[in-house]
Amino acid sequence: MMLKRGEVVKLVRVVAETRELEIGCDECFERLDSYAETELSGLDASAAMPLVGDHLEKCADCRSTLEALLRALRAT
Ligand SMILES: [Zn+2]
Repeated sequence: MMLKRGEVVKLVRVVAETRELEIGCDECFERLDSYAETELSGLDASAAMPLVGDHLEKCADCRSTLEALLRALRAT
């Protein structure tokens, strides 16, 4: 689960280079791990992964999944 900082940056770049207008819950969920890791490493996750950030703004389900994930990661 825990990624090294360099791996996070690499993931973030890959995601940022993917040019899609919108993602759905499935894709959001797939990226939620790295989104949470980015946030916990002190970076602006919604700036690094705008598609996920955008989806999270619209989708309360994914937002509560992210919150649960952040709580779980902070507890470890
Ligand atoms: Zn969603």
